[in-house]
Amino acid sequence: MPKTYIVEHLDPELEAWSALEYAAIARESHASNSTFMLSSVPTTLVLPNKLRDAEGFVVSHESVESLYPDKSKVCLLDPAATTELAPEDGKKFEVFLFGGILGDDPPRDRTSELRKKGFEGRRLGPVQMTTDTAVRVTRLVVEGKKALEGIEWVDNPELKFGKHESTTMPFRYVKAQNGGPVMPEGMIDLIKDDAAKGLDDLL
Ligand code: SAM
Repeated sequence: MPKTYIVEHLDPELEAWSALEYAAIARESHASNSTFMLSSVPTTLVLPNKLRDAEGFVVSHESVESLYPDKSKVCLLDPAATTELAPEDGKKFEVFLFGGILGDDPPRDRTSELRKKGFEGRRLGPVQMTTDTAVRVTRLVVEGKKALEGIEWVDNPELKFGKHESTTMPFRYVKAQNGGPVMPEGMIDLIKDDAAKGLDDLL
């Protein structure tokens, strides 16, 4: 049965980073005939055109609990869950729910806002992932029937920009064929721009 991936928007704004992550999730969901929805989007929030127009992108102003009053079909991907996600969960759940929050270091456990609503949780291992990585890994497990232990990771990649500048991303990513982390289109440029801005602020 086709799966639905929901990211519940939990921040007041939608950062450029999140827009790139959500556009990547939409494209990958469209390619696998599954659905991606960004829920709880305030009616006042203006979404960037690139995200709004991304193939497979669906917006809802409703919260996940009003969209899915039957919680038994919904699995919350929760870094604090005590059970790891497994391929059989693809049979048990129709909807996979993620916190629409940027990663933070150290993690502040904002996924607890969704946990409190009573959804059953599954973990994707002990390391914090970006939201698009968490959806990608969930898809590999519940659609691709891959065990978590069979997935290759890149942890805390260091991205080098030129001779002297680099940024370490404190997250876990899926390893791409070239050995680097799988990241959304446009993300490296955005990180580079943000790093340059940070440097300008110091000067
Ligand atoms: N620091 C965050 C927090 O406060 O909970 C984690 C944010 S993470 C960038 C966004 C979402 O990806 C989480 O809400 C969760 O749904 C999912 N996620 C990330 N890493 C995960 C893991 N190791 N296990 C389960 N879910 C994960």
